[in-house]
Amino acid sequence: KLYNQVQDLKGSIRVYCRVRPFLPGQSNSASSVDHIEDGTITISIPSKNGRGRKSFNFNKVFGSCSTQGEVFSDTQPLIRSVLDGFNVCIFAYGQTGSGKTYTMTGPNNLTEQSQGVNYRALGDLFLLTEQRKDIVHYDVSVQMIEIYNEQVRDLLVSDEIRSASQGLTVPDASLVHVASTCDVIDLMNLGQKNRSVGATALNDRSSRSHSCLTVHVQGRDMASGAILRGCMHLVDLAGSERVNKSEVTGDRLKEAQHINKSLSALGDVISALAQKNAHVPYRNSKLTQLLQDSLGGQAKTLMFVHISPEPEAVGETISTLKFAERVS
Ligand code: ADP
Ligand code: MG
Repeated sequence: KLYNQVQDLKGSIRVYCRVRPFLPGQSNSASSVDHIEDGTITISIPSKNGRGRKSFNFNKVFGSCSTQGEVFSDTQPLIRSVLDGFNVCIFAYGQTGSGKTYTMTGPNNLTEQSQGVNYRALGDLFLLTEQRKDIVHYDVSVQMIEIYNEQVRDLLVSDEIRSASQGLTVPDASLVHVASTCDVIDLMNLGQKNRSVGATALNDRSSRSHSCLTVHVQGRDMASGAILRGCMHLVDLAGSERVNKSEVTGDRLKEAQHINKSLSALGDVISALAQKNAHVPYRNSKLTQLLQDSLGGQAKTLMFVHISPEPEAVGETISTLKFAERVS
C-alpha cells in the first residue's frame, strides 16, 4: 500500500470535534468551552449552584482558531485511501450555525485559503491521480444529492427532469465525469443552485436537509489491468437541534421528526459498527440505506462534530457532544 498511514488510523471510525469561533460583531461573551487539551474538550455548564464542568474525549479536537488547512491535513490520509480502493464517509454533524457547511464547503465568500474539505479533497485526488498516472489510470465522477423528509433529490439535474423520477436512490442519481478541480467547482455551484430552488430566505431548507457529494474513483492498473474502485461520501447533515414540539406544527414538525429519526438512525448505525455488533440497523433511514455499502466492513468513517461557543447554546452543545461520544 502506498499510504501506510491509513492503516495506522486506530479502528475505522474517527470522531473530530471542531469549535466555531465567535462571529464578527457578536458580543464576545465567555465561551462555553472551558479548555481543550489534546483530544479532550471541557465544557463549562452554568448551574444554580455555580458552574459545572463536563469533559468529552475524541480522536482530535480543533479549537476556534483552527484553520481549514489544519483540519484538512488530519483528513487527508483518509481521502487518499479512496485511491487505494477504500470506501470513505465523512459527515458534518452539529446544530444549525455551528459550522458544518464551513468545514465541508467554506464560507459564502470563498477564497483558496477558506476552501473546505470538499474542494481540498477533490484537489488532492486529482493531484495524486496525476502523480500516479504512469502506474494507474484513474477515472473520477461525482454525484450530488439531497435528502429532505426521507426523499432523495438529484442536485445535478434541473427541477423538470427531477420531478419525473420517483423513489430515487444514489445509484440512479446522475453521475458526472470530472477531470479537474474546476469541473468540480462548476458542478458544486450547480448543485448549490438547484438546492436553493424553491427555498426562500425565510424558509431556507438547506439546514433541514442532508446534502451529499459522492465521488467515485475507478483505477486501472496499467501493468496488470486490474480494476479497483473506491468511493467517498461527503455529507453535510441537517441541523441537529431539537425543536420544541409545542412551538412547531405542520410541515416544520414533520421535517423535525424526519431529521430526528435519520440522525438517530445514523448514530445507531455508527455506534453498532464501533462496538462491532453483529446487527447493524441500516434500514431505519434513507441516509443509512443509501450509505450502507460505505459504512462498515473495510470502509472508513469520519464524523466532524461541530459546536457553537455561545453560552446560550450550551444545551445543544452538550447534546451534540453526547451524540458524538456515543458513536466514537
Ligand atoms: P451550519 O452549516 O452548521 O449551519 P455554517 O457553516 O453556515 O453553519 O456557519 C455559520 C456561520 O459561521 C457562517 O457565517 C460561517 O461562515 C461562520 N463560521 C463557521 N465556522 C467557522 C470557522 N471555523 N471560522 C470562521 N467562521 C466560521
Ligand atoms: Mg449549513
